[in-house]
Amino acid sequence: MRSICNVHLDAREVWEIPDPLPAYIDGRWDEPGSAAHTFETQDPARLTTLAVVAEADAETVARAVDSAQVAYRGVWARTTPRDRGRVLLAMAGILRRHAPDLARLESLDTGKPLSQARADVETSARYLEYYAGLADKIRGHTLPQPAGGFAYTVREPFGVIAHITPWNSPLSQMCRGVAPSLAAGNTVVVKPSEVTPLTSTLVAGLFVEAGLPTGVCNVVPGRGRTTGKALATHPGISKIVFTGSVATGSAILRMAADAIVPCNLELGGKSPTIVLPDADLEAAALAGARAVVRNAGQSCFATTRLLVHRRVHRRFTELVASHVSRLTVGHGLDDPDLGPLASAEQAAKVREFVDGALGDGARDVAGGVQLPDLPGHFQAPVVLDGVTNDMRVAREEVFGPVQSILTFDTEEEALAIANDSDYGLAAGVFTRDISAAHRLAAGLLAGQVQINAYPAGGVDTPFGGYRRSGMGREKGVEALAEYTQLKTVILAIEPEASVNSDNGEQEQP
Ligand code: NAD
Repeated sequence: MRSICNVHLDAREVWEIPDPLPAYIDGRWDEPGSAAHTFETQDPARLTTLAVVAEADAETVARAVDSAQVAYRGVWARTTPRDRGRVLLAMAGILRRHAPDLARLESLDTGKPLSQARADVETSARYLEYYAGLADKIRGHTLPQPAGGFAYTVREPFGVIAHITPWNSPLSQMCRGVAPSLAAGNTVVVKPSEVTPLTSTLVAGLFVEAGLPTGVCNVVPGRGRTTGKALATHPGISKIVFTGSVATGSAILRMAADAIVPCNLELGGKSPTIVLPDADLEAAALAGARAVVRNAGQSCFATTRLLVHRRVHRRFTELVASHVSRLTVGHGLDDPDLGPLASAEQAAKVREFVDGALGDGARDVAGGVQLPDLPGHFQAPVVLDGVTNDMRVAREEVFGPVQSILTFDTEEEALAIANDSDYGLAAGVFTRDISAAHRLAAGLLAGQVQINAYPAGGVDTPFGGYRRSGMGREKGVEALAEYTQLKTVILAIEPEASVNSDNGEQEQP
């Protein structure tokens, strides 16, 4: 690997990428020639080809699952929790050692600004470090039993977990699920998005260098309806962890239902932020602007409905518009505020949302942001004022640099608008009134509520959706419950002891 400081870098100047880039199975690059289909991954700013990827077909996916099963029953089962933690810590270390190049690669593949890509690599390392520390602290309970009896619970791994990830933050999405999976004793097969497969696939080789036994983490690049489906329906998979859109999540859940396999879904959002009249308007406006900056708005938990009290609406709107109209847009490696969107489809979808909202009567109050002279999927940031909650832009996830401002008159009305959504991933509140903050936090239907700061939280704060934003929780100690299954052991210490704590026959379900 070479490090070159040049904003016009190509991916192959950053990393020695196998050509074509194949699956990583059992500690080595798969035979690229065996792939039936190849596809290109592009720089979304310049529309140049970064790498050709060999799609993993069903047979390749089956070999990856076999490898993960052998490692699960063998080397990983024999590795003590303490040593699993040590390996995860070494994996965090190797990510940090390669952070400059991994960040360049992530920026090139996703289009995101370099400093945001650097933050993603650091977050990825933090996931590994955080769950490294928890690997030897996964405990059960002892349960009170009549004299002579004893019962306890243990948390055991599932086996091989399939991780299917989206394109917006590929490396950190991968590490968010892989770190607790491995800490708990599972092995994994990861299917990254076909739009941004580079870092997720390439780090599999780094992890083995860090001492992760071969077969514990396998990566199979490819499209969803081919590689993704082959992985999600493989009978050797014991759990599916999916991050992506509601439509695909629903399809994955049906596949999981057919096989009776547990499934975690981290899906989209339409997260509201309520701005009360006593709020620090500058801080609230900055939060509203940040939602379009972070990954050019391609972030599931971005707050994309700013609900502002009518009394401060004018001032607040001016502040948001002034922040957003000063943003810079350019190639990710130049580290502007916003890079391009990830794909032509995404850019077309965002433009359709903006046109639709303007047609519905909303007004763009940002305007004037200069786009770079590059052929890629660029979209100027937009702040829509005059949005009402029945407009399509307020109901559906845009996943682009588009902010919407809505007004309310009472706290009750704000809560009603905030909760009038199919989604429930996150929500924000800005107020100096501590009682109002807690009242609203209690009333908001969302998996995470952020007060006077947005985005807030980190690898240690549990995250996941209410309603159509998904099921299950990632991050924090709580995520370990998703990556382990509970076993209860009941025994009679003395042969004649009663081990029935209900004073009767135990119910036989
Ligand atoms: P997507 O649903 O199109 O794809 C996600 C993954 O699923 C990709 O790897 C894709 O190849 C795969 N896939 C697609 N069809 C499949 C099938 N039939 N079988 C198996 N796999 C299949 O999502 P996307 O467009 O890549 O990502 C954007 C979405 O992800 C947004 O809705 C966003 O909100 C969501 N997201 C959620 C979170 C979260 O933590 N809640 C984080 C990031 C992104």
